[in-house]
Amino acid sequence: MGSKIHILKSDIANKIAAGEVVQRPASAVKELIENSLDAGATSISVMIKDAGKLLLQVIDDGEGMSAEDALLAFRRHATSKIATAEDLENIRTLGFRGEALASMGAVAQVEMKTRTAQQDVGTLVRVEGDEVKEHGAVACEQGTVLSVKNLFYNTPARRNFLKSQQTERKNVTDVVTRMALAYPEVAWKYVSDDETILDLRPKFIEDRLKDVLGVKQFGQLLKVDEKTDFLSLQGFIGKPDFARKSRIDQFLYLNRRYIVNRAINHAVFQAYEHLLIKGTFPFFVLNLTVDPRTVDVNVHPSKMEVKFGNESQVYRFVLSVIRQTLAHHDLVPMMTVEGGIGTAGPDSRLRFSGNPAVQREGGWSAETMAIPGQTDVEELFRKARPATDGSRFTPIFQPPAERIIQQEQAGTPAAEGAGEGRAIWQIHNKYILSQVKTGLMIVDQHVAHERILYEKALANFENNLPSSQQLLFPQTIALPPDDYMLMQDLLPHLAALGFVLKPFGKNTVVIDGIPADVRVGNERKILEDVLDEFRNNEHQSTIDARDNLAKSFACKAAIKAGDRLKTHEMISLIDQLFLTSMPYVCPHGRPVVVKISIEELDRRFGRT
Ligand code: ADP
Ligand code: MG
Repeated sequence: MGSKIHILKSDIANKIAAGEVVQRPASAVKELIENSLDAGATSISVMIKDAGKLLLQVIDDGEGMSAEDALLAFRRHATSKIATAEDLENIRTLGFRGEALASMGAVAQVEMKTRTAQQDVGTLVRVEGDEVKEHGAVACEQGTVLSVKNLFYNTPARRNFLKSQQTERKNVTDVVTRMALAYPEVAWKYVSDDETILDLRPKFIEDRLKDVLGVKQFGQLLKVDEKTDFLSLQGFIGKPDFARKSRIDQFLYLNRRYIVNRAINHAVFQAYEHLLIKGTFPFFVLNLTVDPRTVDVNVHPSKMEVKFGNESQVYRFVLSVIRQTLAHHDLVPMMTVEGGIGTAGPDSRLRFSGNPAVQREGGWSAETMAIPGQTDVEELFRKARPATDGSRFTPIFQPPAERIIQQEQAGTPAAEGAGEGRAIWQIHNKYILSQVKTGLMIVDQHVAHERILYEKALANFENNLPSSQQLLFPQTIALPPDDYMLMQDLLPHLAALGFVLKPFGKNTVVIDGIPADVRVGNERKILEDVLDEFRNNEHQSTIDARDNLAKSFACKAAIKAGDRLKTHEMISLIDQLFLTSMPYVCPHGRPVVVKISIEELDRRFGRT
């Protein structure tokens, strides 16, 4: 009896296999560029016609191939990059599977011209539908020219499967851009249907980013650079203001290979927690360097997926590096005047007395700007001294007895007693104004206190060292049944915050003590409000209970707009604000601090 199984002829096998490596013009371009980079090219030029369907060509000045290698390169599993199974565990090149050229040769008309530095004459190879049509000598530059014509000409199903011209072209553009960002030291040229899209000189990454994104956008980025013995992370991340509605501007590389990895993306995203408006995503260009032995890049033929030996370690590393980068930058929104008198020439001053309506035009807009050199924030960090009890935070308000005396004195303008020689004012019982080296800083007192209390609450949960004030007259309060149950659920966490509560049964609870930051007399309302707020937030399923409680407490216990503050209270508030890990945004993402530079004021008053 004959056998029903037979081995596929190589041309069919190659056609099938080709589908995994070369799915569309963009994947062919990616493979060709990887080959050029592996060949040590310093200049790579990519040309496509008709979104790469008619022609895609990659020209490099790399090491080239001998006449013999030029032919071998089209054979499946033919590679110069690995030889042994051990090599597979230690991949230092972009390619290693020996499939790309064989695949393209199976599903397109491919022409290769190549020459090494040692040869005087180059080699020409033409492969069509898995058949070598030509192999001979040709005059050419050192390096390799690979032209792929009529991709999928012999696999109509695959060809029909391609998306619109626009989409396919965009995919190619994305590939070239990713590679150009990863390899700034290489010169890149990218031409689509005779239109030059990119023409980039070799640069440092900073300048490459400026070329690709524009200088203005570059100003929105923060540098990331951290090394340990096992891992390093370098690149740039966007300031929170620069976040986008989609994830398009996220470039993640592993050993300079563009990868897609949800865990690491999540780590970056997590570091921005509370800094981003909901539904927006941070910009980043990050390269993670790891020992190739600790990662498997051979998960999928496209080599875009990777498997880390220790993913949670990498996750924590990325999270902490990005967090630190964000925390160490001055993200204070800077007020600037858009257009109008701010930016016009000196003559514009004369129009100052014109129609007031025109004056208002353009208005104020908050825009984040990097503050060069030593920042005021560093100054504030220095001034903010840790409390004597070792904790970073002290209550903004004094103990009750002292408060009474202060209340009597209330009404003294805070401005007079610029305590500790610091100029500080409260306006409209809502904002705190303070002079800083580069201008004027305005703080929203409520959100500032919210940020302080939030971090304090988190720290309390962590250390379980509540600081509470005993109530002279314990309060017995009756709660609605569901609040009572919620209170019981949260009892240990509420205790960590500093609430000393004794459930009494029948929906009543005795409040014996309250967090040190809560004003006596408000305890009942604050407890009720916190439970309310907690319930409101519960629908946002992502928040965990402790974080929710910390946020709810911070929001409800913080001083309000309308609360009058004394000078020392303002100073204490500002000092503590700058001891938090993220002074510029409240736990809900609202800005806390806004700055007006002295230059801006000078411009406004026509002093420039
Ligand atoms: P892989 O890159 O996985 O080794 P390819 O099919 O992409 O497999 O390429 C096969 C071989 O051809 C490579 O290993 C390399 O030696 C050679 N080669 C391909 N492209 C180039 C190039 N642009 N310059 C020099 N050598 C190349
Ligand atoms: Mg390759």
